[in-house]
Amino acid sequence: MEPRDLSAHVEYEAGRGIEEVARELGMDADELVKLASNENPFGPSPAAVDAIQRAAERASSYPKASHADLTDRLAERWSVASEQVWLANGGDGALDYLARATIEPGDEVLVPRPGFAYYGMSARYHHGDVNEYVLSKTDGFELAAETVLDAYDGERVVYLTSPHNPSGGRFSLDAIEAIADGTNEETLVVVDEAYGEYADAPSAVELLADRDDVAVLRTFSKAYGLAGVRLGYAVVPEEWADAYAAVNTPFAASELACRAGLAALDDDEHVERSVETARWAREYVSDNVNAPTWESHANFVLVEVGNAEGVAAELRERGVIVRDCTSFGLPDCVRVTCGTEAETRTAVREINEVLAE
Ligand SMILES: *Cc1c(COP(=O)(O)O)cnc(C)c1O
Repeated sequence: MEPRDLSAHVEYEAGRGIEEVARELGMDADELVKLASNENPFGPSPAAVDAIQRAAERASSYPKASHADLTDRLAERWSVASEQVWLANGGDGALDYLARATIEPGDEVLVPRPGFAYYGMSARYHHGDVNEYVLSKTDGFELAAETVLDAYDGERVVYLTSPHNPSGGRFSLDAIEAIADGTNEETLVVVDEAYGEYADAPSAVELLADRDDVAVLRTFSKAYGLAGVRLGYAVVPEEWADAYAAVNTPFAASELACRAGLAALDDDEHVERSVETARWAREYVSDNVNAPTWESHANFVLVEVGNAEGVAAELRERGVIVRDCTSFGLPDCVRVTCGTEAETRTAVREINEVLAE
């Protein structure tokens, strides 16, 4: 027996785990400054931690009430019907549901390069083929409707990331509308707003009021600091929202995740502090690092360091872990997550020292 032909599939390369690196360096994990995976430097909201601890007692039951309650809460927050909120195992899980709901074998999708690897991975799992639109470094990774529409060739799904990972730029709502208008009626435009909280801009969810061809992805992994519980969702148009029942994994988000999400939504202070600190940190990095950067609307900054692999390795020796962007096709850039003030200052100091060598 053999699995099906997986030769076109690529593995996801995650930022390296802190324990892994600490062990390798013979250091304590607490001594490391981990700015590689865009995680929240403040951790989860204390209210979410509390909710997870309390939910542990109920872990023997399926998450019925909590799943429904969280769906309703999010629907209220976005002024949409509950059916339009598709809870999932992380934003990645929501991408899978959107692919399941749209892609027939042989359908094509259009993804950004550089960009988030999981769009293409998910499409391939669902027997789709992957085409790319190129965001060029010489144009500052500009996110313009024409860039996407020039590359568009009737694909079933078009993925937009706003704010974009790894550049930090964003699409205007006008550009997103122009893309949705410029593509076929049966093309779905997925707007990935994993970093939406950090951007001082309206969400594309408002476009769903008049359109049936845009879906928006959101996650609790970044600004809410819950990457470890795996909780995300898509907001989809009312016209086909009932497809969720036909494609989802039963109880798509766990009891612990749903309880954590509900508690996190009540803790505005934690999100505000996370967002404020990220805004400070991205300014601080751009202003003080001795290398070119791009304007970021997210919780990270892309920095052009020359030899990314070498610089990331040097930094790791110094206890600072950043994301080498070679796997994004940017072998001269690293992506630095916004840390606490102290972590961010340390990272900038170490990057400057390494670059000066
Ligand atoms: C982090 C991230 C996601 C979602 O991650 P999950 O942890 O699965 O919610 C989606 N898109 C982009 C661009 C991301 O960086």
